[in-house]
Amino acid sequence: MSATEKPSNFIRHLIDADLASGRYASRRWCGQPGPAVLQKVGAGDTAKIRTRFPPEPNGYLHFGHAKSICLNFGLARDYGGACHLRFDDTNPEKEDQEYVDAIVESVRWLGFDWGEHLYYASGYFQWMYEFAEKLIEAGEAYVDSQSAEAMRAGRGTLTAPGVDSPFRNRGVTESLDLFRRMKAGEFPDGAHVLRAKIDMASGNISLRDPAIYRIRHAEHHATGTAWCIYPMYTFAHPIEDALENITHSICTLEFEDQRPFYDWLLTRLARLGCINPPPPQQIEFARLNLSYTVLSKRKLIQLVTEGHVGGWDDPRLPTLVGARRRGFTPEGFRRFAEMIGVSKSDSWIDIGVLEDCQREHLNETAPRRIAVLDPLKLVIDNYPAGQEEECHAPNHPQKPEWGKRPVPFSRELWIEREDFMETPAKGYFRLFPGNRVRLRYGFVIECTGCEKDECGNLVAVHCNYFTDSKSGTPGADTYKTKGNIHWLSAPHAVAAEVRLYDRLFTALAPGAGERDFLADLNPESLRVITARIEPALVDAAAEARFQFERHGYFVADRKDSRPGAPVFNRAVTLKDSWGKTGK
Ligand code: ATP
Ligand code: MG
Repeated sequence: MSATEKPSNFIRHLIDADLASGRYASRRWCGQPGPAVLQKVGAGDTAKIRTRFPPEPNGYLHFGHAKSICLNFGLARDYGGACHLRFDDTNPEKEDQEYVDAIVESVRWLGFDWGEHLYYASGYFQWMYEFAEKLIEAGEAYVDSQSAEAMRAGRGTLTAPGVDSPFRNRGVTESLDLFRRMKAGEFPDGAHVLRAKIDMASGNISLRDPAIYRIRHAEHHATGTAWCIYPMYTFAHPIEDALENITHSICTLEFEDQRPFYDWLLTRLARLGCINPPPPQQIEFARLNLSYTVLSKRKLIQLVTEGHVGGWDDPRLPTLVGARRRGFTPEGFRRFAEMIGVSKSDSWIDIGVLEDCQREHLNETAPRRIAVLDPLKLVIDNYPAGQEEECHAPNHPQKPEWGKRPVPFSRELWIEREDFMETPAKGYFRLFPGNRVRLRYGFVIECTGCEKDECGNLVAVHCNYFTDSKSGTPGADTYKTKGNIHWLSAPHAVAAEVRLYDRLFTALAPGAGERDFLADLNPESLRVITARIEPALVDAAAEARFQFERHGYFVADRKDSRPGAPVFNRAVTLKDSWGKTGK
């Protein structure tokens, strides 16, 4: 699909304008300063734009990241560009190889490919360091030796300007010497920081001499103990973009205040010959907020480490690994991202919209099967004991080419408990004494009564069937019934564990106000039952998805299913049971 056929948005308008004006056409794609690994970026390729998805490997990807992934990779695809996967691993604490691996797997699962463009910000530490020295030499940065509290106090507020540090006019030679000794490990954490020299009276607090390097004696997951000073995110990120020849650096709105610093830094680095002009541009869009969901890494980590869920891939978590186990599909996420689009103003999206997108795709792709989740015995008294026959059920009602499969029929069946009422409520059309229903793909039956144990519990329903009413046989449709229920032959059906997942939180905005978000956990977010499944489901492959008729979409759990003993997870019900979605 060409870019022009996509629903447009302000980012596409910007890119269209840049392409029309040739803004990046003059960019020298190769031979620029930077690590050898990057010398090839763009060399000989014709990428018209370059975007990147830059996760910090300090957690698993969540649904919000999916929006950013679909946006960045989608733009590169539509415009004939390239999208880099870059690990923004400039922070030595909290980052881990486990997260790196999971992120790689999830981006691939969503259906995107970065080709050879997999990068690590930590691979640029030497360059960042050298650029910092260049800034000091140019009088654009200085080492500040105030305490953290003094620095904070000197920063000012939204209404009051900041005050200059007593170290602000320290000479270039002294700053350079101190910075080199910071790197050499001569000072403890917090003794000094390197700051950009901009304007302590700026109306934008981000421009009041922001810190760009700090001392941190910590081991880094990729560089080990090679460094004891680390660049601040706001300094590192523009450099990563510039070194990788990114054209459009797309981030969420909270970085809007940082854009002037992004531009300040790259303008200077270009002037100093550190990077090639023109610099990349930062573009902000509104992050995804989803109702009934938390999308903060800190909260997700808390849910996992405190055991409120069964791990990062718990199907109730809004992580991509969780969604995959839940039975959600990459196509459903991509459809969702297209549907919600991108905008400049923060808003909430109803989780029902994502569920609808998943439902739509599952409806198109999931074969139909029969499962009885709450089994009740039905005995057909006029059907000969020991006899059995086949009925035929379509694998997809809208796709006759998918064919039909045999479903065994016999005298004793399982039906859903809720499909029988001894005393029917008003408007109830299913089984009750004297009423007729069709056993879907089978016969019409008439209920004759029910059987109870000594405690009064219902144990079986009795009926007679009409021999000439079998679905698909001549004359079968002369029987008119209002109810149509699913069933399984009791001797042929197999017991299987089924996990009924529901939303993890009961509140629209979990933890809104002063409330602890854990207080909003849904105590009924998981119900494990033993259901009966049709023989055709017994050998379901891990991750195979099905519609269980009249129930919803289910997937064979990728971890716990065994050959011959599948475990099913409910992805979504057939209809949104939480009320109208915001669609
Ligand atoms: P958190 O705030 O949960 O810690 P983060 O933004 O720090 O998330 P990163 O790993 O830095 O997480 O995110 C990688 C990319 O994904 C960033 O470009 C970020 O803007 C984007 N992103 C993160 N959360 C969302 C969201 N809710 N909606 C859209 N994009 C998001
Ligand atoms: Mg971040």
